[in-house]
Amino acid sequence: MKFVDLNAQFRGIEDDIRESIERVLQHGQFVMGPEVFELERELADYCGVAHAVTAASGTDALLLALLARGVGPGDAVIVPPFTFVASAEVVRLAGATPVFADVDADTFNLDPARLAEAAQRVRAAGQLNLRGVMAVDLFGLPADYDAIGAVAAQHGMFVLADAAQSFGGAVDGAHGKVRTGALGDISATSFFPAKPLGCYGDGGALFTDDADIAAAAKSIREHGMGAHRYEHARIGITGRLDTIQAAVLRCKLKILDRELIARRRLAARYTRALDGIVDTPRTPPGYASAWAQYTVKTRRDRRDAIRARLQTAGIPTAVYYPIPLHRQPAYAQTNAPPLPVAEALSQQVFSLPIHPYLDAAQQTQVIEAIKTAVCD
Ligand SMILES: *Cc1c(COP(=O)(O)O)cnc(C)c1O
Repeated sequence: MKFVDLNAQFRGIEDDIRESIERVLQHGQFVMGPEVFELERELADYCGVAHAVTAASGTDALLLALLARGVGPGDAVIVPPFTFVASAEVVRLAGATPVFADVDADTFNLDPARLAEAAQRVRAAGQLNLRGVMAVDLFGLPADYDAIGAVAAQHGMFVLADAAQSFGGAVDGAHGKVRTGALGDISATSFFPAKPLGCYGDGGALFTDDADIAAAAKSIREHGMGAHRYEHARIGITGRLDTIQAAVLRCKLKILDRELIARRRLAARYTRALDGIVDTPRTPPGYASAWAQYTVKTRRDRRDAIRARLQTAGIPTAVYYPIPLHRQPAYAQTNAPPLPVAEALSQQVFSLPIHPYLDAAQQTQVIEAIKTAVCD
């Protein structure tokens, strides 16, 4: 059994993928070819935003967003500590300081109350210029953007959504369903192969309704290009999405909704079967996760033994994330207040196979193996 089965996906769309890549091979515009712009239009339409700007990776998309907002030395951006390293890494790369605020034990996402405390603390200390908050949609579940947005508004912060894991997720708002990409002031996603919408290498995109931010991001991803290619209006990076990856993504976007249905069905069945055996993930009312991961919790002193039993039974699992960011050598901060929820989660969680091509028999095998491993 595979944790993520990209081969199974490829078998279903092989002809479309081969034709799409072949077109790129024929026209030869490997950098910023027509597929890149077609994809950007399709992504913006899918998310319901005015602008999608593709990038070389999800990390670059986040960095483009921060640089486009003018984040730099002396600035603070509040980030949850229970996430992939890239969320804090880009803040450092921009020259700013990541300030950690703890997450909610049930949703795994930034806790708005802890965000408010962290914002107060930064302002009271008076050393850093509080610029923004990065809300991460961990495991595919959108963060609480209503509450986070309210805190952000009080403190004049922008909201950058790290939607690397949640492309295809949504929240029911006052005006209907809002997809990730349209949540927050700027949103960034990743097309790393194992993400809900993945390419065959690295890729990412940012989304915004703000035309100035989109224009700045487009400039920064091409070395800060100004009025023409050899005028450089600002400092930039080589941050473009390859045309071949755009061609792949256009094929995969067509099947995304079907795949999301499969992920949701698998998640619902896991929850029905495993509730009470392990702590199953909660989805608040009105929220739709993209189910990048199905992550359960156990007692901390049992987690590793349960995983070892599952491995023996041929069931692959993973721990996202075993070390919270404030415990990482590169991100440790002196005088930082404790972050108990992130600490506990890093010892309690593990994720089960949930890719769209996992069949019912395989899922039954996972469920039975967990029951055995937990009850032993
Ligand atoms: C994957 C991921 C990223 C970075 O995406 P890359 O495309 O790998 O650079 C950022 N944040 C989170 C939460 C992620 O899961």
